[in-house]
Amino acid sequence: MIIDGKKVAFLILEELKEKVKKFDKKPGLAVILANDDPSSRIYVASKEKHSLNLGYKSCVYRFDNSITQGKLTELIHELNENPDINGILVQLPLYSHLNESEIIELIDPRKDVDGFHPFNIGKLYAGFNPYAVCCTPKGIVKLLKAYNIKIEGKNALVIGRSNIVGKPVASLLSNENATVTLAHSKTQNLKEYTKNADIIVSATGKAKLITSSMVKKGAVVIDVGIIKQDNGRLVGDVDFEKVKDVASYITPVPGGVGPMTIACLMENTFELFLLHNKR
Ligand code: NAP
Repeated sequence: MIIDGKKVAFLILEELKEKVKKFDKKPGLAVILANDDPSSRIYVASKEKHSLNLGYKSCVYRFDNSITQGKLTELIHELNENPDINGILVQLPLYSHLNESEIIELIDPRKDVDGFHPFNIGKLYAGFNPYAVCCTPKGIVKLLKAYNIKIEGKNALVIGRSNIVGKPVASLLSNENATVTLAHSKTQNLKEYTKNADIIVSATGKAKLITSSMVKKGAVVIDVGIIKQDNGRLVGDVDFEKVKDVASYITPVPGGVGPMTIACLMENTFELFLLHNKR
């Protein structure tokens, strides 16, 4: 079965829209774009569009490469203090002259809508409730649950160990009582691991890394990868056409994990809004 991330994301967004209508005050999301990567520009535009669709207050700060660490620091401090802003998102990567980890650590963890602040990451790893859970990993677990896919007791293999996808997905799946293996580019005999996995989450950005002979019959395959081919087409890490005949569930690219990331960002913004307006 093909997992329809677009549909699940749509339902999350529709539900959010109804919830937001009940408040006079609106959730506020600030997005900072300080790089010249074309994909980042598209992602930021999409975040702005979705915020406005939901009736959020959306503030996008776009900078050219004359932006300094000092100016960005000032902006984060201002946004931390601004009561109309509930979520602050710094689109990564930043221009190479900027210090990414220093900027992320300046964000108030209660406004860290991406869940990248070490405080929130630490809570996630400890199995406590972070203020916000990283959007792509959260979206993946939501997708599995939307399709009633059992996680507890399953062998889950996460391929890729980035701070924004692989590591937090591994933590979330472990918190859901899967037995988790985390593979990466130095893993020997990847196939041995994929063949043993009930759930495979691939987040490498390597097109067709996962072929049908690597997947156990009936496994669940979640493809996080987004690779733009020379012909402009987007593909994932998985050889979708062949693996879909072996897997019990599989996400397509596009239309799988991607839409869930944005839906979870919108949900995180709303949850932080509720946190800030709790009496
Ligand atoms: P990243 O920071 O580049 O990390 C890639 C990871 O894959 C690394 O841990 C790397 O191992 C591992 N890897 C690379 N080649 C491998 C191989 N042949 N076998 C096993 N592991 C390998 O990437 P990322 O930011 O996590 O993103 C991964 C992909 O997901 C990209 O295509 C990105 O565009 C996509 N993405 C999609 C969404 C979405 O919403 N759908 C969100 C975020 C990212 P090492 O650690 O050893 O280098």
